[in-house]
Amino acid sequence: MSKQTLSFQAEVAQLLHLVTHSLYSNQEIFLRELVSNASDACDKLRFEALNNNALYEDAPNVEVRVTFDKAARTLTITDNGIGMSAQEAIDHLGTIAKSGTKDFMGKLSGDQKQDAQLIGQFGVGFYSGFIVADKITVESRRAGLKADEGVRWVSGGSGDFEVETITRPARGTSVILHLRDDAEEYLNAWKLKQVIAKYSDHISLPILMEKEEWKDGELINPNDENGGRQPGGMVKTGEWETINKASALWTRPKKDITDEQYAEFYKTISHDHEAPLTWAHNRVEGNTEYTQLLYIPAKASFDLWNRDKKAGVKLYVKRVFIMDDAEALMPSYLRFVKGVIDSADLPLNVSRELLQESRDVRAIREGSTKRVLSMLEDLAKHDRHDTTQNADGVTDVVDADDKAKEGKYTAFYSEFGAVLKEGLGEDFGNRERLAKLLRFASTSSDTLTVGFADYKARMKEGQEAIYYITADTLAAAKNSPQLEVFKKKGIEVLLMTDRVDEWALNYLHDFDGTPLQSVAKGAVDLGKLQDEAEKKAAEEAAEAFKPVLAKLKEALKDKAEDVRVTSRLVDSPACLVVQDDGMSTQLARMLKQAGQ
Ligand code: ADP
Ligand code: MG
Repeated sequence: MSKQTLSFQAEVAQLLHLVTHSLYSNQEIFLRELVSNASDACDKLRFEALNNNALYEDAPNVEVRVTFDKAARTLTITDNGIGMSAQEAIDHLGTIAKSGTKDFMGKLSGDQKQDAQLIGQFGVGFYSGFIVADKITVESRRAGLKADEGVRWVSGGSGDFEVETITRPARGTSVILHLRDDAEEYLNAWKLKQVIAKYSDHISLPILMEKEEWKDGELINPNDENGGRQPGGMVKTGEWETINKASALWTRPKKDITDEQYAEFYKTISHDHEAPLTWAHNRVEGNTEYTQLLYIPAKASFDLWNRDKKAGVKLYVKRVFIMDDAEALMPSYLRFVKGVIDSADLPLNVSRELLQESRDVRAIREGSTKRVLSMLEDLAKHDRHDTTQNADGVTDVVDADDKAKEGKYTAFYSEFGAVLKEGLGEDFGNRERLAKLLRFASTSSDTLTVGFADYKARMKEGQEAIYYITADTLAAAKNSPQLEVFKKKGIEVLLMTDRVDEWALNYLHDFDGTPLQSVAKGAVDLGKLQDEAEKKAAEEAAEAFKPVLAKLKEALKDKAEDVRVTSRLVDSPACLVVQDDGMSTQLARMLKQAGQ
């Protein structure tokens, strides 16, 4: 293929503009992205080579080399991974194939700071090179192709890029960054090592740099020892050294990993700028052996509600990367969880189809689900420290660890509570544990902090049900006439305003033996909460109003199934309710909206 000039897909051009303008304050991440691409490329090679050993050609060891050339002002990241064919370079470096791109573009606000965060989440990857470079040259050859089937891709990061065929004996890819004037600091081994240590220490393959040593400047005038010497400098020695730890983070013992390292690793795999809320790192032994490193993010990613949003857990088998987004490893209602699972038992050539059927995978999924639930339970337990006195009146010692967990569950819940609720319908085995983790607003709390257990502890003498109401908004729920009698009697009612509430509650009829009852359904039976006099008054009223009811029923016969005298209203003259077994008004509205 002779040289040709092609245009970036419109979204790429837009993205490039954003990248160079809004990620400026966080320049150094370009190195993390490029090293991570190099590492991905090596993972892909190892994976493809499982079935085709010839792909290794004569270089079975995969590695990444980082070099720079001061005079030419270039920084180069070279890997001997899978490489790209010319078509792949055009496709992968000229378009964004990822689903959700449109969504992502739509979310951009024009506010640089906010957008920078989103871009980070989205993972612009390769294009981040343009933060520091005004030109990028990529030279690559795909493993298995002939030496003369290499490709050179060059772009200045605006509208278009050039591609041409080249000869490249070495398999893999070099990304050559032609640095901008203000990015000169990356022409320095010390700086590069520092950034790589920060972001890429955990990368499981070696990252190499050429060793340098100090060399005095040459003596120009031997008679003048000080004045006649050229300035000295660092010179390359031709010897290479590994500058990262090169062992996958999750394979190291917990005690050797700092919180910062855990957080950095999280940022690399999640593309999140923020540190995670919490994580769990465990080696599970027994019938099925695996290591899990699971994180709960602090913020929901922009695509959490995408229909095709995949789980965020990567699958490794004996440290070999197998696949991203392994949905079989985590139920859909925990799709916000990020992390790595490394199995010792699965075959290396496991496919997505096989995963669905594997008994080991089922065990991993169950174990990981339980692990996430216990992380959440732990956060929930330490969410509030207003009760530092336990039942015996002894004040608990609050240690720093516990203290650090304060408020985290509330934060978690406001981001992910609605997703968690899906679990009621999806994961019957853990339904009770999930129910305990749910939080709602109520007539005594505007924030999502009331759990069923809190509610039960506050129930009135004689109260036999957990009362709730569903509505579109908190204001609508709070002002519903259906709450009047509850307010008058001082009975707390849970206010549910999530779209999924109605659906989710179909799967939860009681909590710990106490039935859940909608205040908007059927005749509200307040049971023992109503005294004899009230019951009598209600019966008498029902009797007295019989003729009126008959007339109303006749008048509304196409619209209302029944018209009843009620004791649920105090101030309002009338309200709508649904039959006990009927669909709630909320659910009916939802289905109508969905076109059913
Ligand atoms: P991501 O890594 O999330 O897929 P990037 O923008 O970082 O997104 O990279 C885009 C694509 O370009 C990659 O998916 C890959 O196909 C290709 N690519 C980038 N760098 C390399 C590399 N060093 N070797 C092979 N392919 C690469
Ligand atoms: Mg990438």
